[in-house]
Amino acid sequence: VFANILQAPDDSILGVTVAYNKDPSPVKVNLGVGAYRTEEGKPLVLNVVRKAEQLLVNNPSGVKEYLPITGLAEFNKLSAKLIFGSESPAIRENRVATVQGLSGTGSLRVGGEFLAKHYFERTIYIPQPTWGNHPKIFTLSGLAVKYYRYYDPATRGLNFHGLLEDLSSAPPGAIVLLHACAHNPTGVDPTLEQWEQIRQLMRSKGLLPFFDSAYQGFASGSLDVDAQSVRMFVADGGECLAAQSYAKNMGLYGERVGALSIVCKSSDVAGRVESQLKLVIRPMYSNPPIHGASIVATILKNSELYNEWTVELKMMADRIISMRRQLFDALSKRGTPGDWSHILKQIGMFTFTGLNSDQVAFMTKEFHIYMTSDGRISMAGLSSRTVPHLADAIHAAVAR
Ligand code: PMP
Repeated sequence: VFANILQAPDDSILGVTVAYNKDPSPVKVNLGVGAYRTEEGKPLVLNVVRKAEQLLVNNPSGVKEYLPITGLAEFNKLSAKLIFGSESPAIRENRVATVQGLSGTGSLRVGGEFLAKHYFERTIYIPQPTWGNHPKIFTLSGLAVKYYRYYDPATRGLNFHGLLEDLSSAPPGAIVLLHACAHNPTGVDPTLEQWEQIRQLMRSKGLLPFFDSAYQGFASGSLDVDAQSVRMFVADGGECLAAQSYAKNMGLYGERVGALSIVCKSSDVAGRVESQLKLVIRPMYSNPPIHGASIVATILKNSELYNEWTVELKMMADRIISMRRQLFDALSKRGTPGDWSHILKQIGMFTFTGLNSDQVAFMTKEFHIYMTSDGRISMAGLSSRTVPHLADAIHAAVAR
């Protein structure tokens, strides 16, 4: 009965690693993965995560029972505090509904499904370009996906004028997906002044902000700095949604741990919203996994572990920032034609190089460097050892 099923294409991001794994070359470099690597090119489990796991193993009351549909209550509270700030009036006034999600992706999906079922305007505007999974998640949630202009290839920066124009002409009430920080794939974020203008425009038109926060603390090295955009929108008393992921900032990728928070106008509304979120979750996966959320809660509630986490987080962020400097310097040294200052200016794990798909294909074929065809490279996949090889490849690709 399945004989006529067509072969589906590989996921365009995960497919890069499939191709990389097949390449026998000893000089191959994988800059496609969206995961942190050490200077030695190895995946990293944070020390603080190991400690938290040890505490959990040694806790005699540790059980493997089902969590409630909404997840680990302690984890939800701590997650809301982490993103909105411990002094957030929305939390104090008890008007945030938070549920544990299956990392960022699952939290976005639950938010999307909830909006498609209960919100009056079923159109979501997402940036052009954005993380490739966004349009699929929201379309399958039952929302109509539209794009707003975001990136300007000419400046390799923000198309702020286009962004404001597109949001101005969105229907009243439309949902707008915003990357809280470290925009993927461009690494281009609005400045605080620009965020303030976006906020004013969105509030004046009644547009509903839906934040995707996949890189809090991982972009700048500071958890508070990376949450500024979100907190600005919560401070004005209006509604918003926020999907959090602990994949990058705690290195918990495969544990699938995240949260969805919906900031409401009153605690009464938040209670009803939570009751409806349960109806979304129950038939999808019943309730979320316990291990990752227990790790996060153990770290967030213990000030010693929390401080240790911030140090390890900053170490990861700083290594990425130092890769930007090294790559920029290597291209300057080679006299590679063009302005490469965007490598230094862009924020977060990725650099949107501006290389086109032909140049990317050339670099893969001749230099065994793997990256997505839009020219996005993961700075976390680079090391001092591989920077010269990448710079040689970019130089050759541009000079062609
Ligand atoms: N949003 C963005 C912008 C991302 O880059 C990612 C990870 N690549 C995610 C969400 C979700 O990742 P995860 O489901 O692993 O938390």
